[in-house]
Amino acid sequence: MLKIVLATSNPHKIEEINSVSVPFGIEFVLPDEGFNPIEDGSTFEENSYAKALAAAQCEMGERKYFMADDSGLCVDFLNGAPGLKSARYAPSAQEKIEKLLDALKDAKENQRGAKFVCSLVLIDKTGNILNKTTGICKGKIAHNQCGEGGFGYDPIFIVENKNKTMAELSQDEKSKVSHRGRALMDMLVWIKCANLK
Ligand code: IMP
Repeated sequence: MLKIVLATSNPHKIEEINSVSVPFGIEFVLPDEGFNPIEDGSTFEENSYAKALAAAQCEMGERKYFMADDSGLCVDFLNGAPGLKSARYAPSAQEKIEKLLDALKDAKENQRGAKFVCSLVLIDKTGNILNKTTGICKGKIAHNQCGEGGFGYDPIFIVENKNKTMAELSQDEKSKVSHRGRALMDMLVWIKCANLK
């Protein structure tokens, strides 16, 4: 099994990503201690690269490849916010959801459009970019939260062409349609074709 460091401290992301990648023979593992990236880029891709580099710099062992995910929710009515600041929009997941629902209280039905965006960057130990992919999942913001699965904004994000929130989907269903799932599939295919060892 090829092991790649995933530059995150979010165990939900590792779980989601491994549920798709392990059948491909690729397992993502947490970075070594001291992983503390500064996310001050102006795009998802810049932040993703900064995280991957931070993971490479704190690697104490033999791992050769480092992948990072930077993602967020962009809401039309809020001109793309919370966007890059999705993780810092409010202190807890519940507070983020409440703040977003409140920010949309005057939005009309056709103004609730939103998209999740995910940028994946894969680098080697020296910081060389090997590949990058982007995934988008379109939908709209619900009026109330619904569902127990997933994490973050999932309970208030209604997936386009499904009458369900992201939190009502099974892990398998989420991976097929989500921003991260789409970006990941492209990345896994690339890793397999590149025959990384
Ligand atoms: P990141 O960890 O810096 O990429 O922050 C992304 C933030 O966007 C997370 O903390 C969540 O609040 C939100 N987010 C990203 N992906 C998802 C998802 O799949 N479901 C729900 N929220 C997400």
